Amino acid sequence: MSMMNDDRGMDRDGTPDLNDGLRRRGARKRVCKYCADKVAIIDYKDPQTLKQFITDRGKIVPRRISGNCARHQRKVCLAIKQARNIALLPFTQTH
Ligand SMILES: [Zn+2]
Repeated sequence: MSMMNDDRGMDRDGTPDLNDGLRRRGARKRVCKYCADKVAIIDYKDPQTLKQFITDRGKIVPRRISGNCARHQRKVCLAIKQARNIALLPFTQTH
């Protein structure tokens, strides 16, 4: 009667590898820049700020990379589109 498996199960006290999952390499903080600043309205007339959220090819940076929350990502997205309409930002980078 060798029940090795049972022993292993008792060892962990209810906290599985949760830590391992959280701290992958670089443990980057997921804080939305706008939430941190308590910004409610994103100014589309501010291309300097908006440029942080577009790639050098003029595309909108996805949320995973920008770190924005869904709400602000949406606002950034809208602001970029408005800025494009008044020619503050390019639709695509001109070659
Ligand atoms: Zn946010």
